Amino acid sequence: RAKLNGKNCHIVFDEEMRSQLLKQVDTEKLLRQAIENDELTLYYQPIISLSDGRLTGFEALLRWNNPILGNVSPDVFIPLAEANGTIIQLGQWVFESAFIQLKAWKEEFTGFDNLVLSINMSPVQFLDKLFLKNFPKLMDTYNIKGSEIAIEITETAIIHKKALAIKVINDFKKYGIHIHLDDFGTGYSSISHLVGFQIDLIKIDRSFIELLGVNSKEDKLVQAIINFAHNLGIKCTAEGIEEAAQQRLLSIANCDYAQGYFIAKPAPASQLTEFIREHLSRSKGLLPPE
Ligand code: C2E
Ligand code: MG
Ligand code: MG
Ligand code: MG
Repeated sequence: RAKLNGKNCHIVFDEEMRSQLLKQVDTEKLLRQAIENDELTLYYQPIISLSDGRLTGFEALLRWNNPILGNVSPDVFIPLAEANGTIIQLGQWVFESAFIQLKAWKEEFTGFDNLVLSINMSPVQFLDKLFLKNFPKLMDTYNIKGSEIAIEITETAIIHKKALAIKVINDFKKYGIHIHLDDFGTGYSSISHLVGFQIDLIKIDRSFIELLGVNSKEDKLVQAIINFAHNLGIKCTAEGIEEAAQQRLLSIANCDYAQGYFIAKPAPASQLTEFIREHLSRSKGLLPPE
């Protein structure tokens, strides 16, 4: 509900109201202004290796802070941006900002070039011919090697236009870019996607991780997903780990990588300096692994 917030009489919107309001206003205009007025930022969430606790990379997550609406969740504004087409500009902004940050991190920290920065891509942007065409130039501008980034796509990006998706994936892979399948196990999940497309890694959806240790059927399902992926030479990241017990079970299940609030919450780059310094010095053997 809307609350009057002290003297300034700022209205505080809750998620539901924001979502309702966004349906009534000109979101296309709002999102274009968001880019122009610097309302967007990227947060970065660490991803670690489960076998030794090593930092392996980050996922870039888009944040929108509007002066009137406040922080709008990407789960709310990304679908709207996809519907009105502004996702192309938003996506372009995301890649440029992520590349600028990656370049800065590589200059600041030795060893950062061994990490992988994961970037989410909407199906619309993924299948956009112009984006793909301009991509080598974008990498060049910021001195980015393909092996330093991963593109996270969901199954919706690949199932509707299979032939095109296979071509796009192969094109990205020519540059050495890693292809990760996000939210695996939800939506249109099909084991056949793991065979038909050149996927390097699947991200097991948080909804499964939540039930680990609670429900033995889920434990077995997650184990089966991991075994299946490994048999195909595909790695696994577990998303949304919030508890030590979940991380332990995933470690036993031989899951490769872990991401979640239990390890670290997404944060702006400026707040990650110490975290990166500590983890990179540890992986050089100055500190013992966890
Ligand atoms: P996603 O790609 O599956 O990202 C993971 C989401 O889980 C993020 O939500 C992250 O903040 C959240 N998360 C991470 N660890 C935990 C945990 O331990 N517990 C819980 N409860 N949540 C956790 P976020 O940042 O709100 O993003 C939501 C979705 O919005 C993303 O899901 C992705 O689909 C989309 N998105 C975010 N940034 C971008 C972007 O730059 N481009 C595109 N196209 N989509 C984006
Ligand atoms: Mg993702
Ligand atoms: Mg995900
Ligand atoms: Mg998701």
